[in-house]
Amino acid sequence: MAEQFGFPTEEEAARVEELRALINQARHDYYVNDAPTLSDAAYDSLERELRDLEERFPLLATDDSPTCTVGGSASSSFASVEHAVRMYSLDNAMDLDELDAWLQRTREAAGRPLRYCCELKIDGSSIALTYHHGVLTRAATRGDGTTGEDVTENIRQVADVPAELEPICGAWAFDKPIELRGEVFMPRSSFRQLNAQIARENDAIKERNAQIELGEISGRRAALKKPFANCRNAAAGSLRQKDASITAERGLSTFVYAVADAAQLPVSSQHELLGWLRDAGFSVNPNIRTVDTEEEVRAFCQHALELRDSLGYDIDGVVVKVDEFALQAELGFTAKAPRWAIAFKFPPEEKTTILRSVAVQVGRTGACTPVAEFDPTVVDGSVVSRATLHNYDELARKDVRIGDTIIIHKAGDVIPEVVGAIPELRPAGALPVQAPTACPSCGSPLHRDGAFLRCESAECPAQAAERLEHWVSRGALDIDGMGPKVIEALAAAGKLRDVVDYYALREDELAQLKRGEETNADGSERVLGAKNAAKIIAQINASKEQPFSSVLFGLGIRNIGKTTAEALAKAFGSIDALMETGVDALCQVDGIGEVVAQSVVDFFAVDANRQLVERLRQAGLQMEADLSDAKPQTLAGLTFVLTGSLERYDRTTAEGLLKEYGAKCSGSVSKKTSYVVAGPGAGSKLAKAQSLGVPVLDEEALVAIIETGQLPAE
Ligand code: AMP
Repeated sequence: MAEQFGFPTEEEAARVEELRALINQARHDYYVNDAPTLSDAAYDSLERELRDLEERFPLLATDDSPTCTVGGSASSSFASVEHAVRMYSLDNAMDLDELDAWLQRTREAAGRPLRYCCELKIDGSSIALTYHHGVLTRAATRGDGTTGEDVTENIRQVADVPAELEPICGAWAFDKPIELRGEVFMPRSSFRQLNAQIARENDAIKERNAQIELGEISGRRAALKKPFANCRNAAAGSLRQKDASITAERGLSTFVYAVADAAQLPVSSQHELLGWLRDAGFSVNPNIRTVDTEEEVRAFCQHALELRDSLGYDIDGVVVKVDEFALQAELGFTAKAPRWAIAFKFPPEEKTTILRSVAVQVGRTGACTPVAEFDPTVVDGSVVSRATLHNYDELARKDVRIGDTIIIHKAGDVIPEVVGAIPELRPAGALPVQAPTACPSCGSPLHRDGAFLRCESAECPAQAAERLEHWVSRGALDIDGMGPKVIEALAAAGKLRDVVDYYALREDELAQLKRGEETNADGSERVLGAKNAAKIIAQINASKEQPFSSVLFGLGIRNIGKTTAEALAKAFGSIDALMETGVDALCQVDGIGEVVAQSVVDFFAVDANRQLVERLRQAGLQMEADLSDAKPQTLAGLTFVLTGSLERYDRTTAEGLLKEYGAKCSGSVSKKTSYVVAGPGAGSKLAKAQSLGVPVLDEEALVAIIETGQLPAE
């Protein structure tokens, strides 16, 4: 069986975002609107799917995921709080050039020399603390910036948040409440203790589960607890405990650095505010520098970078603020962030760790890739234990050996990658890693294909499993409910040999399918059940209506991604035309080069593949594109990135509609992105668009584009 591998595909990443949006909406409908839109079972199943995906791909875990609220309970177990003054996010500078650009913009907008207050960017969770006549009356999370959650009782458990302010600060005499803002964070020592405790609890759970399995005791197997991926997740999760006494045990701390409205305070600048906050009894981060030159701002960023590892808490950058409040007011805000501040983000971290083994991963097209396995290591705030080595040539070039101290980083800030080894730390006798000669799944000899080693067996179980999973994935035939475990169980029962078998599945057989080793409370076998089976069969039937391009993508032809499949479907109109096409004609299609063209020709040259197509045709799948209402290609050459949740369409549908006008859609923002469409809940992609100056549209503008095929007027 193929090793499960921790890198999500685009579809999986999109699915996670979609699930989050759906779950959040369902929570809102249930708790806020008192009008549930999903059954409890459906809700649970979605949450489980999200949790499974996040567990399989820790890279996708975020602290605002609905799975981060305790026991899967909704964040809406806290009352919501309207912020009197909006809690903004910060614009990011991803490197020194972007920092310089902000410095220049700010200098020009101010029209006079500036003083800056430089602070560390604490990697925790934002908090708003309200004091009336010097007494803490309320604490709220940032939420969406306008409405947060009331976490007053939990914040009272955080030792360094004063219940009453020091009289010397004068706040006792203020008429109106004041709202201070800062960051709740988990010190690294508390984080280590917490995860160690979870590991101990898991050991006990494992032992009990084993006893249940052996029949020594009766009961139900319990699920293991998930350790926190990083200090930020741990802080956010601990702050949102329903039971405040658990928050109390988690060792949280705060740094306070802002006030919502400084009118009542005897201060006129950021550095004076920090002094006042300290006098009032708050914990204020000591690493602050007030500077008069841009050179000193850059020097502080460098200083913070050097400080980073020696601190007892996580930071992810530096916040540079225009010091003088009057000038801050002049500069004002954009829709999302103040113009008078910028977050300078640290460059991706490099970490060292010991290489324990190199696993072989067999992909859907038989490519065997080496994957480094090492001790769990925190890189850029999340724990990773596997990283790609791309291919065996690369592995040989980097000369990475088992036992070596290796350097890892996150390529493009997301995918862990091995940079290289430190030969000086190589243990004696460490041998180079040998490329496999046989497929780890089926034992067939591997063949060289460019930089890759490939298993070319048509019978390889690892490839078959990957192909079966690919067929049901989003973007392909989109058969919900047919998860990896169901597929594995069906394959093991001999009911799924290839994708055509999906269309011969019987509802009653599916209903009786065993769910792995799980048992019911009474010890009886757990089966998929009639309801789930009916849903899956309905999805399978519905997949026959999926467009030809989805079928083409679902076939899993080497080098054919979703976009290429769409281009081919449009250009050739049917599988019959495509099967008879040669490399030259294929190369005429925009975006298709020789390698891709050859993959198509090679695929259809194999008899078994042609037979598969015929059997799929018999099963009722679409083998022709519907070109009847082809749209004018008014958006050709433009690239859109959709982020956040959309109300009118789900993301895949919206992307499909944009593509009908010739637009491209991408999952990541770059300088080449033409537009970012941001719905509620948009996060890093929106921030990146803003920092790169990519125009941002809302859903209303998107709907207008989809309806008219025209861009909004400037
Ligand atoms: P982001 O969440 O990446 O948009 O970054 C903005 C957040 O950084 C703010 O909402 C704060 O919670 C956080 N932050 C951490 N340290 C500071 C600081 N010294 N000044 C302002 N914001 C900070």
